Amino acid sequence: MEIIVGKTAGFCGGVTNAVKQTENLLQEGKEIFCLGELVHNAQVMEKLEKQGLKVIENIEEAKQNSCVVIRAHGVPPAIYQKAKENQIQLKDLTCPKVLKIHEKAEEYKQNGYYLFLIGAKKHPEVIGTFGFCGENACMIESMEDIPISLQKFQESNKKKIAIISQTTFSLKKFQEFTEKIKENLKEVEILIDNTICNATSTRQKETGELAKNVDAMIIIGGKNSSNTKKLYELAKEENANTQIVETVAEIELDEIKGREKIGIMAGASTPNESIEEVVRKLEKINVEE
Ligand code: SF4
Repeated sequence: MEIIVGKTAGFCGGVTNAVKQTENLLQEGKEIFCLGELVHNAQVMEKLEKQGLKVIENIEEAKQNSCVVIRAHGVPPAIYQKAKENQIQLKDLTCPKVLKIHEKAEEYKQNGYYLFLIGAKKHPEVIGTFGFCGENACMIESMEDIPISLQKFQESNKKKIAIISQTTFSLKKFQEFTEKIKENLKEVEILIDNTICNATSTRQKETGELAKNVDAMIIIGGKNSSNTKKLYELAKEENANTQIVETVAEIELDEIKGREKIGIMAGASTPNESIEEVVRKLEKINVEE
């Protein structure tokens, strides 16, 4: 059996930086809170919590003068304000690429655009970015959201639209949604700013290619990681023998045994250890076969 691990599998730059810097803070012995899970991966979170990281869901739960980590997803402006009011020190580990989108959202808003933010409505990054978009903005997660978004735009006093995206959204869906919007608003100025992160588009492209060329695919990542789920959907479209697992224990071995080529891909919040564990397991099957 040949095992092929995708070159882009695992932690992206933003997640690597957030985890490393949080570990450094914990090593200094400080009491560190994190607003939401630092990464959507149970194994990584367990390790950080053992080192003392405390996850809070609300900024008000942090003690005065304590340090709160802002994860790579970023937060809406209201959080910076609340931290200031409650004298909470923030360690802002928002990924620079996400910060850039916040800047763009503010710029488009100031330049009179109505904003369409394409992304998963409940995802923290989307909630954070939406906070910078102002009142004249809509979130679009699916084709069904488009008619109501167009209606809201037409009811506003805005004459032009800027479209931006969650960094980890599916490129294919982004293109389908923008085409649909353009079809419906032929007379309106539409600025399309594809803010999907390079790390994401390269990984999605590699996942599709890899899935096409192997006999079975394993996608590794946290159950609540949206970018991992997207990789799974993409791979499944190309290869019916695709499975998604969070840990090595979840692999359905019957789907793997006897296959010649196995592809492995992992989401942006999947640590190297998880990928290595899966590879070791497959190598063991190889020896036994
Ligand atoms: S996926 Fe891209 S934008 Fe998101 S944290 Fe990683 S590097 Fe940053």
